[in-house]
Amino acid sequence: MAKIKAIRGMNDILPEQTPVWQYLEKTVKEVVSIYGYNEIRMPIVEQTNLFKRSIGEVTDIVEKEMYTFEDRNGESLTLRPEGTASCVRAAEEHGLLFNQMQRFWYQGPMFRYERPQKGRYRQFHQIGVETFGMSGSDIDAEIILLSARLWERLGLLDCVTLQLNSLGSNEARANYKDALVAYLSERKSQLDEDSLKRLETNPLRILDSKNPDTQALLNDAPVLSDYLDEESQSHFSELTSILDEAGIAYEINPRLVRGLDYYCKTVFEWVTDKLGAQGTVCAGGRYDGLVKQLGGRETPAVGFAMGVERLILLLETLDLIPNEVRQTFDLYLAAESKGLQSKVILVAERVREHCPGIRVRVHCGGLKNIKQKAEQTGAPIVLLIKESDNHELCGSIWHNNEPIFDLSESEILSSVVECHNA
Ligand code: ATP
Ligand code: MG
Repeated sequence: MAKIKAIRGMNDILPEQTPVWQYLEKTVKEVVSIYGYNEIRMPIVEQTNLFKRSIGEVTDIVEKEMYTFEDRNGESLTLRPEGTASCVRAAEEHGLLFNQMQRFWYQGPMFRYERPQKGRYRQFHQIGVETFGMSGSDIDAEIILLSARLWERLGLLDCVTLQLNSLGSNEARANYKDALVAYLSERKSQLDEDSLKRLETNPLRILDSKNPDTQALLNDAPVLSDYLDEESQSHFSELTSILDEAGIAYEINPRLVRGLDYYCKTVFEWVTDKLGAQGTVCAGGRYDGLVKQLGGRETPAVGFAMGVERLILLLETLDLIPNEVRQTFDLYLAAESKGLQSKVILVAERVREHCPGIRVRVHCGGLKNIKQKAEQTGAPIVLLIKESDNHELCGSIWHNNEPIFDLSESEILSSVVECHNA
């Protein structure tokens, strides 16, 4: 019978890999907590309309990437393709937005029907932050500084570049859209099929076309920054001056528009050239109109999401994972002879009580070549439990297949503590 396999683009994260995920997650938790952000956990499934109304009907996500299905009662549901819409829905539903300032973070799987390739999967994971109730550029700066501090802790700061742009107010963007459409409509013969379609549905997305001819055509096109309203302009210059003072380098990319409809004013991406085509590791921006669009009151908001798989790929590519991350236990405990095996389990319990936090792995099963087997586990310390000539329990610490020192029963615990602390 044919074996059942995982769904294409949906990956198992195997025990060999999970320590790296845990390392990244732990570092993120440390960083968000020193900025005073609170975790929020949303369901993985939502009403389809939530995403249609927030992300936008004519975006890649809603048009072709959503996992949508009918519930048993006929309701249309969707596996979340991103976290922002759910976060807004949850916060609004529980009255966390009106007249309040909130800083949230979340993590979890997202689902998009895309063509699987390196750095692009159908189930992938994001860690995101969303803030509500703050309209100034200071909070835009804060979330960028938070992400920069995360890169610094991970050793990635030199390998990622911050790209910034302002999309302006809805009105400014609409004016710009008209100018861009007018310019491109006169040059339709030079546009590829994709851009021709976008010209009708979502013209700003043409700006991030990967086609070199389209990019060349855009060199003489109207630029968004010339259409920015005064408020968006000063918001943007305040943001860049905070970043300048904080010593955070950035590039202004006038063609950065982002794929979702709900952004306004600040948008940004952290990109790397080390991962090929899938180079954006973190992306976000301001979405002041979204809460109202989803039925709430006008609430300024700004946030970002990072792609966990891409960050892990980057850490691995650059060999930035500390060695101890993959070390998942501290002590390997084994019996020298079969008769002592039941004792070893009990010695391990005493070690765990005596030395809180120590990670002990006990050897269960055959004892043939036990010393080599123990060493092969990569354990920093191997403790072999033996019996002395007068039948007292004792032990010896092994390293590189050599006994380092012998211990009487009473010495076992104290020396384990000593080794662990060393
Ligand atoms: P891309 O242009 O690469 O498709 P996007 O604009 O669709 O990205 P966002 O919706 O902004 O991406 O999501 C934020 C981050 O989540 C991305 O920068 C990326 O790191 C990650 N991400 C998005 N889609 C995927 C995917 N299919 N597989 C893995 N990571 C993804
Ligand atoms: Mg995408």
